[in-house]
Amino acid sequence: MAEAKGNKTSTASTGGKAYEIVDHTYDVVVVGAGGAGLRATLGLAEAGLKTACITKVFPTRSHTVAAQGGISAALGNMGEDDWRWHMYDTVKGSDWLGDQDCIEYMTREAIPAIIELEHYGVPFSRTDAGKIYQRPFGGMTTEYGKGTAQRTCAAADRTGHAILHTLYQQSLRRNAEFFIEYFALDLMMEDGECRGVVAWNLDDGKIHRFRSKMTIMATGGYGRVYFSCTGAHTQTGDGNAMAARAGLPLQDMEFVQFHPTGIYGAGCLITEGSRGEGGYLTNSEGERFMERYAPSAKDLASRDVVSRSMTMEIREGRGVGANKDHIHLHLEHLDPETLHQRLPGISETAKIFAGVDVTREPIPVLPTCHYNMGGIPTNLHGEVLAGDPKDENRTVPGLMAVGEAGCVSVHGANRLGSNSLLDLVVFGRAAALRCADILKPGESQKPLPADADERALERLDRLRHAKGGQATSALRAKMQRAMQDHAAVFRTGEVLEEGVKKLEAVWQESGDVAVSDRSLIWNSDLVETLEYDNLMYQAMTTMTTAARREESRGAHAREDFPDRDDEKWMKHSLVWCDDEGKVTFGDRRVNLQPMTNEVQSFPPKARVY
Ligand SMILES: Cc1cc2nc3c(=O)[nH]c(=O)nc-3n(C[C@H](O)[C@H](O)[C@H](O)COP(=O)(O)OP(=O)(O)OC[C@H]3O[C@@H](n4cnc5c(N)ncnc54)[C@H](O)[C@@H]3O)c2cc1C
Repeated sequence: MAEAKGNKTSTASTGGKAYEIVDHTYDVVVVGAGGAGLRATLGLAEAGLKTACITKVFPTRSHTVAAQGGISAALGNMGEDDWRWHMYDTVKGSDWLGDQDCIEYMTREAIPAIIELEHYGVPFSRTDAGKIYQRPFGGMTTEYGKGTAQRTCAAADRTGHAILHTLYQQSLRRNAEFFIEYFALDLMMEDGECRGVVAWNLDDGKIHRFRSKMTIMATGGYGRVYFSCTGAHTQTGDGNAMAARAGLPLQDMEFVQFHPTGIYGAGCLITEGSRGEGGYLTNSEGERFMERYAPSAKDLASRDVVSRSMTMEIREGRGVGANKDHIHLHLEHLDPETLHQRLPGISETAKIFAGVDVTREPIPVLPTCHYNMGGIPTNLHGEVLAGDPKDENRTVPGLMAVGEAGCVSVHGANRLGSNSLLDLVVFGRAAALRCADILKPGESQKPLPADADERALERLDRLRHAKGGQATSALRAKMQRAMQDHAAVFRTGEVLEEGVKKLEAVWQESGDVAVSDRSLIWNSDLVETLEYDNLMYQAMTTMTTAARREESRGAHAREDFPDRDDEKWMKHSLVWCDDEGKVTFGDRRVNLQPMTNEVQSFPPKARVY
């Protein structure tokens, strides 16, 4: 869309083919226009920094738009609440793998962050008294586990949609520059520092080099490594792969969240909010089996517990349907008015994708890949950690990561529902605040090294002219099958090792990929191939770290190591993946120290904006 004036245009050639290059200089470049990228962009534009936001899809089509249930904050609008209870729940939900300084920051900042969203114009649902409506969600408790908290702020069941549109409008209002339908290819690195990013304009085929003091990766998750997933087709972890190709580590990749209620067959999500509003699960005997697995939280136990319980029921022959391979979710006992007001979106989804009228019959559901806890490791300012064993706080100059692409580690081994939207806005904002602190608007930047875009263009060129014998879709299906069969809800060492072998074989075969369209304009064949190539890094790092971690923690359930082993494994996994698919491992300490230790007044004083 907006093209900055005064850009220099030149040509570069790789393997004899010329590419037209357009050069830009910005204070900050944000890659991604989901909730995290837009919140960062808005904050940067507010701070007066010259900011570009690059996105491969139109901003309001980012996956955040699909978030249904809501965003957590201990506002206490529907009963007593305290950010420390929220913190306790998040630490516990993370199965003690979350970094507690970051969790404290997020749960404390949640309260002003939501008020700020409200002031930006997010149309939250309201209580009769006019306050923001809050619903219960799994794992959210009061009094440190004693009661059920109503903590999840909702705009009906379209909360992500409401937030994304508001943030986009506010960013436009503050004149952030958007580069829409630009596909970021790779980071430009110089001596361990990030100097910007190379992107391909899908609309006219030109290559753009964005030079910047800071590059913020907000590229979202990589759910598409699995065959069945609730995420958009664009969730291909491009940012994580760019970090890996830049020689940087990824963290905690073995922790993948399976949502209990993806629609059987289609994978589309039915929000946890439906159980928050009183929905429940049954097996083929009509039994509300969650009462057996989690007597107090029942259907609102945390996602890993519900997903595993469902899988156990199916395995033991109590699944529903002709193949006894799924479970029923009931909403038909709820008041139709509640369904209409609070859950209109999922009523429609169930009708379209399962042919079910939720006021009359149950929805067929199955645990489905939903969220990636792992990603690019960062500190609580969003600055990317280098993974240096001698100095674990060392950051990579010029590079930040926020949102699902990042691993600030607030979710640890398992994310609580409604904590991701919160993570996006709190850390998107934190990254912008940090930039405002450390960067001066318009500060001069040294020239890029002559070969800054070489790696990116070589890769683009290689894939664009790939003349092998296998379609990208065939290779992708092999990878997705391997992930689905070998790295799902329950895992064993043997099955994972077999999965690693399968992925190694797919990696080898990837050299035989065929791309038939050689053009540079709206070449979806090439986009899919670049995305597939990116996905392979995530598949490999997920499978290998899962095979390495010999314990069960959060979403990582090893049948051969059923217990959590704090002595050996209370540590983050770091993994590096090279361009041949070879991995090396490292570890990082979990920060068990919160930021503050003082006794707070009760109720805690909310910060006023
Ligand atoms: C169906 C569903 C429902 C959910 N419901 C909830 C909920 O109720 N509450 C909650 O807390 N969480 C929920 N989640 C999780 C949460 O929505 C996501 O974790 C979150 O939206 C991710 O946001 P993000 O900003 O990190 O990335 P995304 O919203 O995925 O955006 C990624 C951005 O990066 C851009 N991008 C990616 N690669 C490139 C590239 N190569 N070049 C240029 N641009 C690129 C894309 O264009 C896009 O703009 C849900 C998730 C799903 C899938």
